[in-house]
Amino acid sequence: MIDAPTKHNEPVAVAGSQAPTRCPRCGVPLATAAVLCDNCGQPTGAGGSAGQWDRPIWFVAGMLVCLGPLALPWVWFHPRCSRSIKGLVTVGVLLLTVGLCALLVLTIWFLLHQIQQLTT
Ligand SMILES: [Zn+2]
Repeated sequence: MIDAPTKHNEPVAVAGSQAPTRCPRCGVPLATAAVLCDNCGQPTGAGGSAGQWDRPIWFVAGMLVCLGPLALPWVWFHPRCSRSIKGLVTVGVLLLTVGLCALLVLTIWFLLHQIQQLTT
């Protein structure tokens, strides 16, 4: 008796091994160590990513205060943060950044104006 040939490109379930993980958003098979989906960029939620992005709220807030918009990925990939909170924090940080940049430009303009008045 001869068994039907198996397809070589299909993942074979081996006892004790994990089934290939798939992206929760688009369903594309993922590498076991993948933190983000190659197709859509969604965090995989697999072991490594949770450890990397699941930080306490004080850590995320501190990073936002210190780094500003550069710390937004800690908000975007936080596994316990809702989508609306992520959007609110993102808009708030970007508005604050634009406001502070405008304030910086005005301050520099004011200082240059004062220096010009002193030299004339
Ligand atoms: Zn995906």
